[in-house]
Amino acid sequence: MAPQGSQAELEFGGPLGAAALLLLLPATMFHLLLVARSGPARLLGPPPYLPELEELWSPWALLLCLTWLGLQAALYLLPARKVAEGQELKDKSRLRYPINGNPIYDFFLGRELNPRICSFDFKYFCELRPGLIGWVLINLALLMQEAELRGSPSLAMWLVNGFQLLYVGDALWHEEAVLTTMDIIHDGFGFMLAFGDLAWVPFTYSLQAQFLLYHPEPLGLPLASVICLINAVGYYIFRGANSQKNTFRKNPSDPRVADLETISTATGRRLLVSGWWGMVRHPNYLGDLIMALAWSLPCGVSHLLPYFYLLYFTALLVHREARDEQQCLQKYGLAWHAYCRRVPYRIVPYIY
Ligand code: NDP
Repeated sequence: MAPQGSQAELEFGGPLGAAALLLLLPATMFHLLLVARSGPARLLGPPPYLPELEELWSPWALLLCLTWLGLQAALYLLPARKVAEGQELKDKSRLRYPINGNPIYDFFLGRELNPRICSFDFKYFCELRPGLIGWVLINLALLMQEAELRGSPSLAMWLVNGFQLLYVGDALWHEEAVLTTMDIIHDGFGFMLAFGDLAWVPFTYSLQAQFLLYHPEPLGLPLASVICLINAVGYYIFRGANSQKNTFRKNPSDPRVADLETISTATGRRLLVSGWWGMVRHPNYLGDLIMALAWSLPCGVSHLLPYFYLLYFTALLVHREARDEQQCLQKYGLAWHAYCRRVPYRIVPYIY
């Protein structure tokens, strides 16, 4: 158990911020979905209509969701799988007894760090499977619906589907890397991750494909090639940076990273100061943001709505970077200061 609110410094604006996000996140998701299928597709401004309560409830939709979760859970429990060793957790695996937590804050961030029933790890399960694969399935359904409507899927729809399939495929291929992320090590399993993984990711990350279904965008081959190049550059940086750090953390003498320059810290762990991690302090975020741009560009520039993901993701990563810096400063103290002096930019070289 992790006392998220009692001993640790409060994050996300404490209980007030958590309460605001509890309302804001589902409301934003509904707003985006309603607006994407309306003619004007205005990101800012009221939604074109509010659905009746009956429209929001369907026993078939509930059955479909439960079947999807059940199927993913059954696959997750299959015995034929590799069992990976996790990182040392924030709670150092010792039991602690939180007193006087704030119920809203705790509900949002989660009190339990890694809730499990036997070997079924709820957070790990939700991080990768139902939502992420669900996102690809929703994209595919939209592509097929476009083919039904217009005879064949548009080039823009192919690009969005292809780019996002690559992203999800990459996350599943490097499944083990999720064990070293902040979500698994630091954040509790509360509303933020449960809603984020199961609802926010599949429904708002598929916004570009939803937009394209209702607002077709002609795209020529030359522009499509440029967009593919942007996505490839983003992916190259994202994958290069993540793999370099994961390889280094697993085995610092691996020949692929052994020649990189590092600085030592009082914890015994070293920090990379050359290679990708010598360019900026979060090169993986930079690659991710470049890809986010490439996912929006096929939708043209007539609407702001398809760029919602890029805007939201920039805010998320800037905030996440600040949280990670805070945690690294606590972990590494003076050595982190030395790293910041050596690599002054956080995400974008010479800009931020
Ligand atoms: P990171 O993979 O960026 O890991 C941060 C950790 O890396 C630090 O806490 C530190 O941990 C270690 N580290 C930092 N600097 C160095 C260095 N110079 N040398 C060695 N280790 C270092 O964490 P995230 O979980 O934020 O991101 C993982 C990936 O997930 C990213 O690519 C991100 O873009 C992506 N992501 C995608 C989201 C989405 O919705 N699409 C949402 C959030 C993230 P330690 O020293 O303890 O190893």
